[in-house]
Formats: sequence, C-alpha cells, structure tokens
Amino acid sequence: MRTLITNGTIVTADGSYGADVLVDGETIVLIGRDLAAATTADETIDASGKYVIPGGIDAHTHMELPFGGTFAKDTFFTGSRAAAFGGTTTIVDFAVQSRGKALREGLDTWLAKAEGNTVIDYGFHMIMSDVNDESLREMDRLVDEGIPDFKLFTAYPGVFLSDDGAIFRAFQQTAKNGGLIMMHAENGPAIDVVAADMVAAGHTDPYYHGVARYPIFEGEATNRVIRLAEAAGAPVYIVHMSARDALDELRAARDRGTKAFGETCPQYLFLTLDDMRNGFEGAKFVCSPPLRPADHAEELWKGLLRDDLALVATDHCPFDFHGQKELGRGDFRKVPNGLPAVEDRVDLLHDGGVVGGRISRERWVEVISTAPAKMFGMYPRKGAIAVGSDADLVVYDPGATHTISATTHHMDVDYSCYEGRVVQGRSDVVISRGTVIVRDGEFHGAAGHSRFLRRAPAEYARRS
Ligand SMILES: [Zn+2]
Repeated sequence: MRTLITNGTIVTADGSYGADVLVDGETIVLIGRDLAAATTADETIDASGKYVIPGGIDAHTHMELPFGGTFAKDTFFTGSRAAAFGGTTTIVDFAVQSRGKALREGLDTWLAKAEGNTVIDYGFHMIMSDVNDESLREMDRLVDEGIPDFKLFTAYPGVFLSDDGAIFRAFQQTAKNGGLIMMHAENGPAIDVVAADMVAAGHTDPYYHGVARYPIFEGEATNRVIRLAEAAGAPVYIVHMSARDALDELRAARDRGTKAFGETCPQYLFLTLDDMRNGFEGAKFVCSPPLRPADHAEELWKGLLRDDLALVATDHCPFDFHGQKELGRGDFRKVPNGLPAVEDRVDLLHDGGVVGGRISRERWVEVISTAPAKMFGMYPRKGAIAVGSDADLVVYDPGATHTISATTHHMDVDYSCYEGRVVQGRSDVVISRGTVIVRDGEFHGAAGHSRFLRRAPAEYARRS
C-alpha cells in the first residue's frame, strides 16, 4: 500500500516547507516536490492549505489505572482511540509495581492490558513502589528490554512515596544502566498535614485540594530530587510541573549544567485554581499537583518557549464525575486524582500556543511530538518526518475551529475540563504506521494494529 500526501506544508521541529510525502507500507520513503508526476500511489491525500506533522506523542498517560479505590475510566482501547482522534499516534503509559511484588509482575500485567486493545503504538514507563536490592537489579533488565524509564514519587505517603534514600539508590542505578528517573515532585507528607488541618476546620470542598498542596511544596521537592540526581550523577525528568516555584528550581539546575528536564500538561497551561471553586463541581479539576493561580501558567509558557520545559504530556487519568469523583463528597482527600486530556492536547497547544502567539508552529510540533520522541528513545523512528521514519502522520487543518465538549469527545468520561471552549486547529487525517486510522471525524483503526515499542535509553537526556 502506497499513500501519497500532496500539496501540504510539512511542519517539523526544525522548520516548515511545502513538499509531498510518499508512504510505502509503514514507512516514509520519499519527500519532495511534485511527487505525483514522478511516482504512483494507491491513495492520494490532498493536504492543500493544511499542515503535515509527525503524529503526536503523549508520554504520560494512565489508562485503566487503579487509584483511590477505583480505576481510571479509559481502557487502552477507548483511551488510545480518543488519542488518535486528537492527532496522537503514540502513547507511553505507566506500568505499576505493587508493593512487595516484582517490577516484572507489574509490567506483565500492564502489557496484557494493552496488547490487542490499543489502536496506536505504545510503550511503558515503570512506576517503582519498592526500591530494594532485587528491584534495583530488575531495573537493569528492564532497560535492556525497552522500558528504560522509572517513575518515583515524593508524594502519596503509604502508596507510592519513596524516601530520599530510596530515590538516591534509584538514581545511582540509572547512572550505571542508562535509564531515566521520572519524578512526581511534591512534598506529600507536608501536604497531608495541611490537608488534615483543612478538613478538621471544615474545609472539605475540592477547592481545598488545590489550596493544601502549596506551590512551595512542589518547589521544595523539585529541588530535592534534582539535588539527589546531581549527587548520583544521573539525569532526572520532572513530570507534570505546575508551579513557578518548581520551574525556578529547574531553571537554576539547568543553568548550572544539570541534566534536569521538565514536563508540563495542558491543565497547568489552560486551567487555574479558580476552576476548582463552585462547590463539589470542583472535583472535576482535582489532580496532583493541583491547578494553580493564573500567574503560574504564564511562567510555564515562558518555560516552554525557552526549553526549560521540554515537552507537554497530559497525565491523562480520567474519572467520571458521577460515581467516581463523587467518592470524595465530604472530604476532598478522597476524590480520585486525575483529568481527561489525551484527546485535547494537540489542539489546545495549537490554539493557545501557536494561534495565541506564544510559541511557533515548529516549537508546537517539538513539544507535542519530537521532544518526547527524543526524550524517550523513539527518535527518529517517531517524532520526525524523514525518510525511514514510521509513517505516523497527521494532516492538520490549522484554520478549522471546533468546540470541545463531553457530548462530542471520544474519551470514556462524563465531563470535559474544557467544556464549551472553542479551539482553532483540528486533525483531519491521522495515519499510524501507514494506515489511516481517523479521517474527517470517523474512526477507521483497529485494536490489533498497535505495536509495543521497545525504547532505547534516553540518550537525549544525557547529551543535551
Ligand atoms: Zn501521572
């Protein structure tokens, strides 16, 4: 099967130019002008007036994650299909090690959930809940098998939290084996003290989830884990950065030459603490770290512009408002943490970033696709429009507008954080390894099409 995409503007992290793209099978085989005259194809897609971009890569999703006595609602099927509608052709999800169990056991569980159910290519990071001699040895084996990133937490005491010694040992291990430690950096024990005080004072609404998790608790933990990484001589990647206090610590670290990298998410760029008001409705916006006052978002945009923040992922972890978020009525600490976002990321960043004049269209492609490909060992197979790369391509209409709504989105969740927001930019045709999986709002993909990605260690993190 040969597919020719003609007359579009190719937009990559490096630049934009008019050219046609020829796909043969699963791979890009030719890029040039007027290819229709020089070659034949089974199908021609006219991209006049549109961008041709590498498919989005969402490096932070949680499909079917068990959390707070329930499960994130999207399955690998519904969540990856929603991702595809939104122009994302690769996700990297998180397998979870249960306390007292092997990393391998958690990984096998998540591989089984995803296999045959996912409609786009996928990889896994590994959440480490227990750092001990055996799990440290297991890390080396996982790096060799294409799961080279490990997420640890300074938050969620009694569930995911690792103490400083455990975190330091994990950094020592990745310093040797080439892996990358990803950190959820908030001071969980201190947050729990403030949250308990608030509940005791009768402040039980979801809004107080946002208030209790002070920005300074994120700043403190961010500095701490970066310093531990520096001490061990290992790189570190901070997930879902939300606060200026944390970004300042990351900037300072990068300025002194530390291999520290940051991720932010659409919710921290587009939503604010005020969205958490309105009584229990605020539960729709409960995630950790929480939404912040608006001035933090402006700093995050600057961080993206200057590359202190490397990329944008979603932390997609959807819970229905009815029946799931409602577990936290009367105590905000019991609201499951997480938001739906996997379908909206590419469009929100185009609308708020490119149309909004904050970043160039090339930087947009970089933060949604190319940088995650490089950071997580998939480049140039993914995240690039180049001969030999996987034909993960999106024909993107930069002028089309649409209204985000739970009534039209494809995520399996009963609300949208962006209900009623009009965004400019839309994925018209989404191609995964040469196969059209979405066209004009219709799904043409299949669960069996996906492939598990064995990823290389994060060379990008070591070199840049
Ligand atoms: Zn997460």
